[in-house]
Amino acid sequence: METGQESQGCVRDCLVCGSGYIMSFDRHSQCESCLGIEHANAALTPGVSCSHCARLPLALRQPRTIGPSRRSTPGQSP
Ligand SMILES: [Zn+2]
Ligand SMILES: [Zn+2]
Repeated sequence: METGQESQGCVRDCLVCGSGYIMSFDRHSQCESCLGIEHANAALTPGVSCSHCARLPLALRQPRTIGPSRRSTPGQSP
């Protein structure tokens, strides 16, 4: 059922890398991976200059691109 183009929980593909995704409420033109960790960190500062980041809730500005699951040594499988 399509009631409109404003649906929460909907994501769109990142046109830059093609593999990332952007939340519907995120007005960035590229995904977090493409924006970079520096952009994510800047969003955590009170004087964030990015208007897109300023619209996001603080909880959503946390960088999710990094994590312990990121393996840097190929060939080491469980
Ligand atoms: Zn991307
Ligand atoms: Zn931003």
